[in-house]
Amino acid sequence: MSAFAMFSLQSPSLLAFDKERTEDHLQRVYGIGRVPCDTSMRETLDPVPPEHLRPAFQVGFRALQRGKVLEEMVFVDGHYLLALDGTGSCSSKAMHCESCLEKHHTNGSMTSAHQMLGAALIHPDRREVIPCMPEPIITQDGIEKNDCERNAAKRFVTKFRQDHPHLNVIVTEESLSSNAPHITTLQAHHMHDILGVKEGDHALLFEQVAQAERAGRVTYYDRDDRQAKVHHRFRFVSNLPLNASHPDLRIHFLECWETTADGKVQHFSWITDLRVHKGAVYQLMRGARARWRIENATFNTLKNQGYHFAHNFGHGYQHLSVVFATLMMLAFLVDQIQQLCCPLFQAVWAKWGSKRLLWEKMRAYFYIYALESMRHLFEALYHGLHKPTPTWASDSG
Ligand SMILES: [Zn+2]
Repeated sequence: MSAFAMFSLQSPSLLAFDKERTEDHLQRVYGIGRVPCDTSMRETLDPVPPEHLRPAFQVGFRALQRGKVLEEMVFVDGHYLLALDGTGSCSSKAMHCESCLEKHHTNGSMTSAHQMLGAALIHPDRREVIPCMPEPIITQDGIEKNDCERNAAKRFVTKFRQDHPHLNVIVTEESLSSNAPHITTLQAHHMHDILGVKEGDHALLFEQVAQAERAGRVTYYDRDDRQAKVHHRFRFVSNLPLNASHPDLRIHFLECWETTADGKVQHFSWITDLRVHKGAVYQLMRGARARWRIENATFNTLKNQGYHFAHNFGHGYQHLSVVFATLMMLAFLVDQIQQLCCPLFQAVWAKWGSKRLLWEKMRAYFYIYALESMRHLFEALYHGLHKPTPTWASDSG
């Protein structure tokens, strides 16, 4: 709970948190009995398997489901968009632990790094994202880095299905994920997909598209978006083999050229198991492109602090790095839930204008004032509190 409070208050480092910690405030606002010092927090958390934090993510998710807030994130036909992406949480030349990925450099030195597969429910029209319990990408003996990410995806998908047996999802990912084993895993767990593809990685597929074009089997669809002043041209073709080694795996291909008013053209291409037709292609494109939200809205939270993550919070020998990264994601989930559901949080955010300023003020108020609860803290941030005026003893009086 203390580590959670540290991320919830967006403390820049464990040391800063330790210096500023005011026990009775943490006790009242976060319900923590005794707050450990920085060394003891590291020692306590290091042996904790990160899986122990999974139920906490579930609590947040169930609350959103019960409160019908999750429904607002439905993308299409009762399906949610689930974005997956690998990200680094820290790297170090000096520190190393059991769950590090090792990068050996040509000069003989080694960098150890932590990566995880992050996941979040996203929606093209919503700025909030709902992060899921991330899956650490860990070293397995004799296995290549890409396989590590693939295996992490496999573990993630299996656990996600256990956590949410009936949730209908469309998985959206970048082009690294467009491989037959991964698509087969998704299908086995009843997940739909819209995945990026690149001509360089999928030569045969793009050849097939060119053949379909010559045979007149492709469909074009043009659409003007007057408000955004962009033109979209779509081309799609159904039922193609993904590649030569998996001719039985059939996919649908779609691509989009987006032309802005000043003539700039961007090109995107995806594969999907969803039926592509003129009525659906625009929405599919929006869903696929909403994937950037996991980069921007989710990982930046980790990355802004992530570069010095090991340095600022501690690396540990077993799980500490992963536990810290997971707790940070959990604090982010709680923050997103507040942003989605709590009018007081929304009002305070609007008042201070930016999240950065909001966290700054939140920390300042937290340490200065004797607050009773999180609500009290946010009410103070909204209405203001009067600082106690110092009273001076005076000789003349
Ligand atoms: Zn490590």
